[in-house]
Amino acid sequence: MAYQVFVSHTKDDVEFCNMFDVACARVGVKAFRSEFETIEIPQWKTIKEAMENSIAMFLLVGKQLVAHQASPSPNWKYTQNWIAYETGLACQAGIDVWVFCDNVEINFPVPYFNNYEVWGVSTKKQVEFLKGILNRYNSGQTFPVPTWDRNTKCPHENCRIEFNLHSTLAPGKVIKCPQCLGDMIYKKGFLYSES
Ligand SMILES: [Zn+2]
Repeated sequence: MAYQVFVSHTKDDVEFCNMFDVACARVGVKAFRSEFETIEIPQWKTIKEAMENSIAMFLLVGKQLVAHQASPSPNWKYTQNWIAYETGLACQAGIDVWVFCDNVEINFPVPYFNNYEVWGVSTKKQVEFLKGILNRYNSGQTFPVPTWDRNTKCPHENCRIEFNLHSTLAPGKVIKCPQCLGDMIYKKGFLYSES
């Protein structure tokens, strides 16, 4: 049986989304693409059913999605509402929620996630990493918190969300917490290792 992953994204992040799709196709994972702009009506139902049939949700945070934040367009509010709805459904379903950034800093809060990757898929190695993750899902494996030694926690008192970090960070690297948008400083760096 082929597993499905639920992919939240904006169609404006063309290249990033295509890379993700290709990776899914290579490993034989079905990708349900939920474009914020075009969701089949009734939208809540399409999304709910697709989520119920998915083993994980990936929120693709690309350059255009981040740029939306500064946009005066009312569409952004609409998009943000769908992100909240989708992550809520995924949380309720108990499936993994990935914040998967394309080497951009996330600039809008995500109410729930449990896996985080910051570097995207712009190099061959990163594509291989993603395929490895998707392969594991395709064999029915999931990444609950904590998985191996990737577990980390937001240091901010009003947040403290725990998640698996899948990115190697150089000492002193600062990344944003996707939930509270606070800075997380990795003084000693963070070593991602395949287990
Ligand atoms: Zn936080």
